[in-house]
Amino acid sequence: MNKIQWLMAEVTAIVQETPRVKTLTLRLPEWIPHLPGQHYDLRLTAEDGYQAERSYSIASPPEKTGEIDLTIEFIADGEVSSYLFDGIGIGDPLEVRGPIGGYFVWKDTMANDPLLLVAGGSGIVPLMAMLRHRANIKATNPTVLLFSVRTDEDVIYWNELKTLACQDSQFSLLITFTRRPPSDWTGYQGRIDGPMLSEVLSRFSSPPLSYVCGPTPLVEQVANTLADVGLPPTSIRTERFGPTGT
Ligand SMILES: Cc1cc2nc3c(=O)[nH]c(=O)nc-3n(C[C@H](O)[C@H](O)[C@H](O)COP(=O)(O)OP(=O)(O)OC[C@H]3O[C@@H](n4cnc5c(N)ncnc54)[C@H](O)[C@@H]3O)c2cc1C
Repeated sequence: MNKIQWLMAEVTAIVQETPRVKTLTLRLPEWIPHLPGQHYDLRLTAEDGYQAERSYSIASPPEKTGEIDLTIEFIADGEVSSYLFDGIGIGDPLEVRGPIGGYFVWKDTMANDPLLLVAGGSGIVPLMAMLRHRANIKATNPTVLLFSVRTDEDVIYWNELKTLACQDSQFSLLITFTRRPPSDWTGYQGRIDGPMLSEVLSRFSSPPLSYVCGPTPLVEQVANTLADVGLPPTSIRTERFGPTGT
């Protein structure tokens, strides 16, 4: 098996997505087409040689060539995320390797199947690559995104998601606010639970393929509930990002 090489990428753009989330665009010396859902590993090396390595999902679709977008959530005591959030500027080098992952991926051969995407917080990142690619290939499969966030300040990619939903009658955007919804909010509130998921599933005329990504407790609860209501376990794919809940 070929070992994936570490490469020195260059930061070419930084976008503040929310108060706690930034997207870094990295230009790669060798760009390899990725599948939506895959990630890169990123390695920081201190002057004394100490290294820290973390995984970050690719937010950009494979149609964006030569560069990848990584969307990073700031974690207050986080060794790597806090440096990427506060210590990195345009032109800086970053060591990465990828694309990695063969399970939590959405392939073109699945583009006719109904699709349920469930995200908690920064778990939206790999799902966004799927939605961006789905829009680029003009897929018309019924697709629902259920996105759990704390407050209206925390909705990553909100404008783009709203635009996708406006342009595509087959794509539904559902957000649930776990702490503070916007004042005029009439949609879901609170953590994702069984009744909420049953209602979301009732929008599909046949069982969807499901991708669930975010903090471990959310992922486990959603995946168990989807299995409990009868979705085949093989149709539920999960990716866990971290230990805390939204
Ligand atoms: C396949 C994969 C893809 C990922 N993609 C992304 C991505 O696209 N964007 C992104 O922001 N992160 C992503 N992550 C999470 C990322 O790899 C790091 O775990 C995260 O940035 C925290 O690293 P850190 O060094 O800042 O924190 P650490 O120093 O490792 O941890 C500091 C503290 O924060 C807690 N913690 C660790 N991770 C989280 C978390 N996610 N949420 C809350 N608390 C946490 C730890 O338990 C610890 O108490 C992904 C993880 C995996 C496995």
